[in-house]
Amino acid sequence: MDTSSTSAPTATGDTILVIGAGGQLGLELTHELRQLYGASRVVAADVRAPKDAETLQAGPFELLDVLDKQRLEEVVRRYRPTQVYHLAALLSATAEKNPKFGWQLNMDGLFTVLDAAVDLGVRQVYWPSSIAVFGPDTPRQHTPQLTIMNPNTVYGISKLAGEQWCEWYFRRHGLDVRSLRYPGLIGYKSLPGGGTTDYAVDIYHKAVAGQAYECFLQDDTYLPMMYMPDALKATLDLMHAPADQIRVRSSYNLGAMSFSPAEITRSIQRHYPAFQVTYRPDSRQQIANSWPASIDDSQARQDWGWQPQYDLHRMTDDMLLHLKQQVSAQLTVA
Ligand code: NAD
Repeated sequence: MDTSSTSAPTATGDTILVIGAGGQLGLELTHELRQLYGASRVVAADVRAPKDAETLQAGPFELLDVLDKQRLEEVVRRYRPTQVYHLAALLSATAEKNPKFGWQLNMDGLFTVLDAAVDLGVRQVYWPSSIAVFGPDTPRQHTPQLTIMNPNTVYGISKLAGEQWCEWYFRRHGLDVRSLRYPGLIGYKSLPGGGTTDYAVDIYHKAVAGQAYECFLQDDTYLPMMYMPDALKATLDLMHAPADQIRVRSSYNLGAMSFSPAEITRSIQRHYPAFQVTYRPDSRQQIANSWPASIDDSQARQDWGWQPQYDLHRMTDDMLLHLKQQVSAQLTVA
């Protein structure tokens, strides 16, 4: 993964706590932070031990339920982190199936982290939002930073409320909390965690396995997406930017590319001409229909110089290369 352009930390001596470190984003972000700050200074925490042994063994790991305020305070007192990355959440499709728990985890988890940060002197908090904050009334093309929101999923409602609370903690308590509205994230290191854009990861795995793919969205459903190296770069660039450049304290729109299942299929067929996809839309189609097709992220570009590096074909080439390497490594072990 090319992360050579990821920005260097602005402060030395930082200690970082990553909550939800075993997830799709957490595994990669923890690895990246450990490269930048040193393994012993980045504490990985999750409600369950990650299957990925590297995250467990490369640096400190704590079992932590973010809803357990006492336990969180214990971990914060022990390591005294200067920065907390709070990534634990129930994603869009899973939260629709378990709405009350989705609301509880996404909201109470955020409050627990924000309160611990204020009470125990954490300098910076990162909390991801999502394009799910937008709804069916939102302009779908080049969705602006400030526009009609009206999300209609539990996940989107919780993310929008979370954004407003982040801004409130900044204004009321001076807490340096920063946030990005990620589009669908695509990476080869782990499987996605129950979102509406999961198809764009699964489809690569099927192609490399030589199998056909049945897609749960219609072939012409355009959604904003981002390759993981760009998501890592955006996150670290935002966190390392001088505080006076951060003019949005709710959450920044963030874009990279926008494509449909038909387009990603054609991109894969450049490598696997016989690859076939069939379409059987399920309940996730309705969620996708309520989200933007593309994002206007000009505010992030102006304020802290956001610039994505991957388009669809470049991402496809890199994903397929790494997934093929993983398959050959597994065959060698077997
Ligand atoms: P994921 O589901 O893959 O990972 C979430 C992690 O949080 C898991 O390892 C899980 O074990 C952990 N977790 C769950 N409950 C916990 C608890 N009570 N205490 C501590 N840890 C707990 O999710 P992800 O895709 O890595 O997403 C990370 C963040 O980014 C989330 O806030 C998500 O809303 C946001 N986001 C992700 C995407 C995407 O496409 N992946 C897009 C937009 C926003």
